[in-house]
Amino acid sequence: MDTLLANQSGHPRCCIAGGGPAGMVLGLLLARAGVPVVVLEKHLDFLRDFRGDTVHPSTLEILHELGLLDAFLQRPHDRIEELRATIEGRSIPVADFSHLPLHSKFLVLMPQWEFLDFMCDEARRYPGFELWTDAEAIGLLQDKGRVNGVKVRRGRWAGQPQDVELHASLVVAADGRHSALRDAAALPHISYGAPIDVLWMRIPKKPGDPEATAGHVAGGHFLVTLNRGDYWQCAFVIPKGGHADLQGRGIVAFHAEIARIAPFLATRLLSALPDWDAVKLLEVTVDRLESWSCPGLLCIGDAAHAMSPVGGVGINLAVQDAVAAANLLAAALAGAASDKEIDTLLPQLQRRREWPVRVTQAAQRLVQDRVLVPVLSGKGPAATGRVPWPLRMLARWPMLRRLPARAVGMGVRPEHVQSPRA
Ligand SMILES: Cc1cc2nc3c(=O)[nH]c(=O)nc-3n(C[C@H](O)[C@H](O)[C@H](O)COP(=O)(O)OP(=O)(O)OC[C@H]3O[C@@H](n4cnc5c(N)ncnc54)[C@H](O)[C@@H]3O)c2cc1C
Repeated sequence: MDTLLANQSGHPRCCIAGGGPAGMVLGLLLARAGVPVVVLEKHLDFLRDFRGDTVHPSTLEILHELGLLDAFLQRPHDRIEELRATIEGRSIPVADFSHLPLHSKFLVLMPQWEFLDFMCDEARRYPGFELWTDAEAIGLLQDKGRVNGVKVRRGRWAGQPQDVELHASLVVAADGRHSALRDAAALPHISYGAPIDVLWMRIPKKPGDPEATAGHVAGGHFLVTLNRGDYWQCAFVIPKGGHADLQGRGIVAFHAEIARIAPFLATRLLSALPDWDAVKLLEVTVDRLESWSCPGLLCIGDAAHAMSPVGGVGINLAVQDAVAAANLLAAALAGAASDKEIDTLLPQLQRRREWPVRVTQAAQRLVQDRVLVPVLSGKGPAATGRVPWPLRMLARWPMLRRLPARAVGMGVRPEHVQSPRA
């Protein structure tokens, strides 16, 4: 595990905290450019359910630019060329990806552990890459006001915790929306709150089920069913703070609510969700750091800007941050750039990526407030079974479906790989 540290000057050039989409993609790109890099992941593996499954056409384009797309598409996945919404049983086309000006004119649904495992396999081809699992970043090391490393707790899951210090020219916080490192650096953030939370659960599939991943609206509820091969990964949207109330009504009442939205699931709910242990609460937050960096430290992905699940775009934004960070920093980190030279580059990432994040978060908050809250409170056309006028227009004019496809599939200011290959 520690070959890099033993072989070289004792420390990696860059230390990335967080083995999620942002951290793994940046780790791969830096290692590809010849930068010695250590990625710290606090868990033992990538096998966690609640990460989101969408890989967007713009992320697939990045993989194409890296020459990895064909190999990536060998992993188990589901392709979506069209997104549909189901309102009281009526299926309405919303977005058509087949006209995007990209190599992949579709969105991929792939369990995120497959995506991360693929990135890790590719990164390991480069000698400068190391992934430390069971390694939690618990604090920052500083010298004369500059971050110059991370305090790491290793072996917690193995039952033998040991704290070590890892020094690096640059520390990247890619440790998600509860980032320990951004807190340790006391970087102030703007919190927008969120009016929703999500309940996350698995329900087995049966022959005769619809095939497609879909969003269902009925009876004042909203449910997304993600096709994961032999089971449905389900996301049930609830009003913020509504979890205790729902639990108070009992699991059988919850079954009835799901059966009302997606009747095809009704007969298997008792065995799939016998009690509340089978239902995970995922808290939704939307926030953004005022400053994404300080000397020696850069924040990317959800650590810099926690995204709502609306539109399923958070992974894509995290990947775009990673690509932009590598474009900005890889040559300097691979070369002999001084700490001071690296520090002068760091604010440029925020200047490039903040605008796409602001636009996307504004759109997510609009959908949360104008679509989801009215549905959940039983108000508005969708809640009463009527199809809202924007959806009626999309259903009527196929050309219009290219707009949401572009917004979701490509996002704002898509990045391209410019970082070098050593
Ligand atoms: C309910 C819900 C559903 C969502 N669904 C989708 C979706 O379908 N599609 C989509 O695109 N986006 C979705 N999102 C948003 C998406 O999950 C995030 O925007 C995206 O995962 C951000 O990637 P990241 O790499 O920045 O952070 P994360 O994915 O959160 O990864 C952070 C990583 O760092 C590790 N870590 C945390 N702390 C430490 C530490 N101290 N030391 C070391 N490692 C640490 C974590 O274990 C994790 O592996 C959803 C969000 C929510 C809340």
